Amino acid sequence: MPRLNSALQALYGRVLRRNPGEAEFHQAVHEVLESLDLVTMRHPEYLESGIIERICEPERQIIFRIPWVDDSGKVRINRGFRVEFNSALGPFKGGMRFHPSVYLGVIKFLAFEQTFKNALTGLPIGGAKGGSDFDPKGKSEGEIMRFCQSLMTELYRYLGEHTDVPAGDIGVGEREIGYLFGQYKRITNRFESGVLTGKGLSLSGSTVRKEATGYGVVMFTEHMLATRNKTLDGCRVVVSGSGNVALYAIQKATQMGATVVACSDSTGYVHEPKGLDLDLLFQVKEHERQRLSEYARRRGRGVEYVEGGRVWNVPAEVALPCATENELDVEDAKQLIENGVVAVAEGANMPTTPAAIDLFQEAGVLFGPGKAANAGGVATSALEMQQNASRDSWSFEYTEQRLAEIMEGVHERCATAAERYGRPGDYVLGANIAGFMRVADAMLAQGVI
Ligand code: GLU
Repeated sequence: MPRLNSALQALYGRVLRRNPGEAEFHQAVHEVLESLDLVTMRHPEYLESGIIERICEPERQIIFRIPWVDDSGKVRINRGFRVEFNSALGPFKGGMRFHPSVYLGVIKFLAFEQTFKNALTGLPIGGAKGGSDFDPKGKSEGEIMRFCQSLMTELYRYLGEHTDVPAGDIGVGEREIGYLFGQYKRITNRFESGVLTGKGLSLSGSTVRKEATGYGVVMFTEHMLATRNKTLDGCRVVVSGSGNVALYAIQKATQMGATVVACSDSTGYVHEPKGLDLDLLFQVKEHERQRLSEYARRRGRGVEYVEGGRVWNVPAEVALPCATENELDVEDAKQLIENGVVAVAEGANMPTTPAAIDLFQEAGVLFGPGKAANAGGVATSALEMQQNASRDSWSFEYTEQRLAEIMEGVHERCATAAERYGRPGDYVLGANIAGFMRVADAMLAQGVI
């Protein structure tokens, strides 16, 4: 890890002491502080005003009990979280994650990243994240619904279309958002469409929201490639994950002429040199919620299923990590570089370890960090809020066009900031600086908040 100057190092020490045992949060903060080294040299007022330290402290953190009754009648307990990190630019905004690995450190890092990501979109949204250590795997529809209702019975008091607007993340999709929305409506007696995003179309959701994160990652990749006069057309692409982000990244990359040769789930990966079969993949993963081994079984010859293997061993020009944090480490990066990777864009939040990012950048690989590359999801959530506020709904084509313009803007903001600070093509630096400055300036304009 590059060293921080002494003032930032001292500040980082205080962040560590104030947030003990939260490794993911420490990692996310350190990465941003590394980028701010250059900024504070040119603008010492950011240090003098104490704004950097204030940005590292969440505005509000909520932890609560979620009791629910399983199908056998047994009472179960989970823990719920909502970290409302920063509302300088707009209402708190960010998804909810249901996964057994969830604890305060994970939600805090996600909310911190979300704050800068949302700023990079140029839209008026603050940053938050929430979730629970609830494991949706193997739960019945009824259990999922009762769990969502119990969660909202506590969380509703902190939400509102002008206050805090959750959406989905790992383990939370249209179905869960529907249950959460229904319970919010019952408790508050308000059909407040803009209080949640990622809603189904029948509940005033937005077209393209489901597709947006994956589509946006591919659009961002295309912009990065264009700086080297390259395009996705004809490239081999390897994707990790096979959830919502991965599936729509695969779809968009294929539409743009790339061949997506591999994707993975938590037990293994499929490799298909001629390109994955999209119809079967969506059928198995999106509709039936089955494993990739089932895709491989039905697909038969021409596809290889590697149980327990690393998807990053598959040769490709473009790699899109779309599963979860810290899933791509130094060994994976070495392998990808050896296989001639040209661009890596993060569909997931913080999927690449800091040392692996260093390797990509040293090797001259285009690297798009999640807070820029995957901003299309939350950007389209903001478009959903716009439609809800005006009681309108836009066509797929129009919404996708808006998404494309926003992703172009995100790329532009990162590229310009990186250039201004003497490191053209460094999207990590550019994203951190551009995101930070927008939030910091809005906070400073509001006094000591
Ligand atoms: N969970 C998504 C993200 O990481 C989307 C959040 C939202 O739409 O509010 O950006």
